[in-house]
Amino acid sequence: MDRQGEIILEAGTSHDFIDELLHVPGGDRVRECIQCGICSGSCPVGYFMDNPPRKLFAMIRAGLRDEVLHSDSLWLCTSCYMCTLRCPKQIEVTDIIYGLKRIAMREGKASGAERAVALANSFVRVVDRRGRSFEPELLIRYYMSVDPIGLLKKAVLGLKLFLRGRMPIRGEKIRDLDQLRTIIARSDEIGGL
Ligand code: SF4
Ligand code: SF4
Repeated sequence: MDRQGEIILEAGTSHDFIDELLHVPGGDRVRECIQCGICSGSCPVGYFMDNPPRKLFAMIRAGLRDEVLHSDSLWLCTSCYMCTLRCPKQIEVTDIIYGLKRIAMREGKASGAERAVALANSFVRVVDRRGRSFEPELLIRYYMSVDPIGLLKKAVLGLKLFLRGRMPIRGEKIRDLDQLRTIIARSDEIGGL
């Protein structure tokens, strides 16, 4: 792995980060990556990433924790699951990227991705309240946290959609919301998704 012109051999690096990823669903498989690059080659947005999946996994194994968590790849990933589908080692690439995203958010290392973080946080709050997504509330929460003026512009569009019966104003809640909250809390405890 090349960092500032320096060659880092995996055998000589700390494996703390890999051990940390054992708590992420699928994270125990990172060591099995054969660096074939099929994930990066299949990724529709890999071209725009600073560290496409193959490189990201090499960096994890090299112990480059900060560089991985600051990577814009985590936020460019569209969760299309193409990498996971095509990986010859059946590594759950997308889910591992989700796990990395959670760690980056928890540690405030998502610089440059504030909007993506705001959207993710808004989504979680809506799901926590209702057990499911509800777009009007999601948009209001998101815009209030990043661009309140932008919300006014969207309100015009929202009103048009509402008048045409395409925008509900009352969202629904699932039954057994407490059960879902218990699952999410348990997942948080074990550091999962
Ligand atoms: S496709 Fe799988 S094995 Fe190949 S580089 Fe990507 S994660 Fe590693
Ligand atoms: S899930 Fe993310 S990393 Fe994987 S191919 Fe799709 S965009 Fe790329």
